[in-house]
Amino acid sequence: MTGRFAPSPSGDLHVGNLRTALAAWLSARAAGERFLVRMDDLDPSVSVDRHGQRQLDDLAAVGVDWDGTIVRQRDRFTRYREVIDELTAAGLTYPCFCSRREIRDAVRAPHDASPDGAYPGTCRDLSDAEIARRSETRPPALRLRTDGASRAVDDEVAGTFVGTADDFVIRRNDGVPAYNLAVVLDDWDQGVTQVVRGDDLLSSTPRHLLLQELLDAPTPRYAHVPLVLGPGGDRLSKRDGAVTLADLAERDVTPPAVRHALLRSLGIPTATGDVEAAIDGWRAARRDPGRHPLTTVTLDELEREWSPSPDAQGRAR
Ligand code: GLU
Repeated sequence: MTGRFAPSPSGDLHVGNLRTALAAWLSARAAGERFLVRMDDLDPSVSVDRHGQRQLDDLAAVGVDWDGTIVRQRDRFTRYREVIDELTAAGLTYPCFCSRREIRDAVRAPHDASPDGAYPGTCRDLSDAEIARRSETRPPALRLRTDGASRAVDDEVAGTFVGTADDFVIRRNDGVPAYNLAVVLDDWDQGVTQVVRGDDLLSSTPRHLLLQELLDAPTPRYAHVPLVLGPGGDRLSKRDGAVTLADLAERDVTPPAVRHALLRSLGIPTATGDVEAAIDGWRAARRDPGRHPLTTVTLDELEREWSPSPDAQGRAR
């Protein structure tokens, strides 16, 4: 049994990312599972070396540890490309020349139940001649032909979620394999049996289920954890102020105080840094999810927990 956390090394982790990481880690450790950290560094514009190490340091600072070496997506392009070629040879892909804007502005059929941003199928039936002509001016992305199939995700937090897998991109038009393909192959190849991640990815999970079926890969268990919300009620972002461990350190909020606040937001009463106590607290909270549901938490609520009043600091240590 194996769990994992897979950050994108595009900057420092914020407390929302750290909370999800703690949930994934607790979930694996409470079940006696292995826990892996993987770098989702597909995007060539991000500097893994600079951000990746800081992310690992911050995970360790809030008490997340992991087994084995860190796998990086950037080292796995050969594997992704092999599978892209297999799917293409099986007639399951097509090139797509649409820009983001064209997709956004496309008219959708009246009873189309696909999620916002889903691909409307514009390039699904282009002729070979048309593909050749368009390729002269713009390199195509490659999409999976799903015919709008829908799949039900049996999610440990969200319950049953039914969504469509639109014809999603598996290779971007700059040639880089896409996240929705890579994540399925990574989890499969690493023997991941439990995926705990932010619930912003729940609506993409039907795509992952469909791809697992096509590739004959096992489906892990899924638990999508509600996010930390910023002051405006949207998901937390770096714009919301002091949200990384480095920002908070400047305000004398220590990593143990952040850990404490995050654990409490996950329904764990522990006030100490003790690993076993945190794992026991998680087990107890998950046994009684009616009393300790995993819900969103606001930055304000976290701030109240870690605010450096003498009393709060005393409890955090
Ligand atoms: N890299 C993704 C993120 O940082 C998470 C991917 C996943 O957990 O599947 O949002």
